Amino acid sequence: LIQLAIPLNFIGFVYREIRQGLTDIEHMFDLLDVRAEVVDKADAKELKIQRGAIAFRDVHFAYDGARPILKGISFEVPAGKTVAVVGPSGAGKSTLSRLLYRFYDVQRGSITIDGQDVRDVTQKSLRAVIGMVPQDTVLFNDTIAYNIRYGRVTASDAEVEVAAEAAQIADFIRGLPEGYLAMVGERGLKLSGGEKQRVAIARTILKAPPILILDEATSALDTKTEQEIQAALDIVSRNRTTLVIAHRLSTVINADEIIVLKDGVIAERGTHGELIERDGLYASMWSRQREATQAEEQLKRVRESD
Ligand code: ATP
Repeated sequence: LIQLAIPLNFIGFVYREIRQGLTDIEHMFDLLDVRAEVVDKADAKELKIQRGAIAFRDVHFAYDGARPILKGISFEVPAGKTVAVVGPSGAGKSTLSRLLYRFYDVQRGSITIDGQDVRDVTQKSLRAVIGMVPQDTVLFNDTIAYNIRYGRVTASDAEVEVAAEAAQIADFIRGLPEGYLAMVGERGLKLSGGEKQRVAIARTILKAPPILILDEATSALDTKTEQEIQAALDIVSRNRTTLVIAHRLSTVINADEIIVLKDGVIAERGTHGELIERDGLYASMWSRQREATQAEEQLKRVRESD
C-alpha cells in the first residue's frame, strides 16, 4: 500500500505543479526520479535548528553502483560560515548539494545539521531551513512579483520589492513597462541566466533560511552582471551557513574555506591565499580562469572600440 501511496501522492504533486504552470518539464522528471528515491523514516523527527552547522563525514555516493562519484568526503561548514567547493566538471560538486538537500541518500558516512542526521528528520523540516539558489531557476508562467513571492507566499508587495532591491534585480524590473506585473516564463518575458539567478536570490531573501546552498551557473557572465550577482549573494549569505558550488572566482576568494574536489576525493583544501601559495590544482585553475576572463574583457574592449 505504501508503495502505491507514494506514486499517487506524487501524481497529485505533479498535477499541482502543472497547474501552477511549471515551465520546465525536464526539471519535473528530475523531481520524479528523485522523489522515488528518498522516503521519510516512520519515526522521522522535525529538524531542530540551532546555529545551522553542517558536517559531511566520510560520505560515499554513487548514482549507480558501478561508478562511485564521492569516495569518503569529510568537511564542515561551521555555523554562519561560507565553504566553497570547486573542481573539474563532473567532479561531484553539485552532488554534494543534492545530498545535503536529501534528493538522494548517502551510501556510507553521514551528513548532519546541528548534529542531526538528515536521514532521521522529515524532508519537509529539512527543506524548510535550506534555501537553494540552483544553477538554472525554474520560472512560473506568471508575474515577476509572483515568481519572487514564491520564496514566502505571505510576503507583502513592499517585502517583495525590498527583496528585489537586495537581489539587484529591482532596477531591471522598474525598467519593464508592466514592472512587477510583467509576465515571465516560457509564455512571457524570457529572462537571461543572470536575471533568473537574481530572481532566485530574491526568493531566497524572502524565505530567509538559516542555511544556503548556492549552485552557480557554469555559463560565463559579463563582469557587470557578475558583480551585481556577487553583491546580491554577499547580502543573502551574510550570517548564514553557506555551501557554494562555485564556478566563479569572485565567490571563492572570500570563502572561509575552499574544498577542491577531484575524482571523488578532496584533493586540496584551505583559504584562497593558502591554496595559491600551495601552487597546486587550485592555483592552476585560478590562473586559467583569470586568463580566460582577461581575454574575454580584451575582446569586449576591441568590439566596443570598433
Ligand atoms: P559541473 O561543474 O559540470 O556542474 P559537478 O562537479 O557539479 O560538475 P555533478 O553534477 O555532481 O558534477 O556530477 C558528478 C557526476 O555524476 C558526473 O559524472 C555526472 O555525469 C554524474 N551524474 C550527475 N547526476 C546524475 C544522475 N542523476 N544519474 C547518474 N549520474 C549522474
